[in-house]
Amino acid sequence: MRDTLFPSCVIPGCSNPVSRSNEPCGQCKTAFGEYLRPGGEELTDEQIEERDTAVRQTYERRGFA
Ligand SMILES: [Zn+2]
Repeated sequence: MRDTLFPSCVIPGCSNPVSRSNEPCGQCKTAFGEYLRPGGEELTDEQIEERDTAVRQTYERRGFA
């Protein structure tokens, strides 16, 4: 969801604020460590929104959000 001043962490399910969109937050960097590898194509905000919409709707339907 994009309702804060800062963009959200790029990791699905994490809404911690970050200074740049398309980057993981410090907590995710610590949690996932070497599993987060730099490189690849950066996702646009639209791609992130598209990726997360179905999951978010499912969470809301099931009462997790
Ligand atoms: Zn995060």
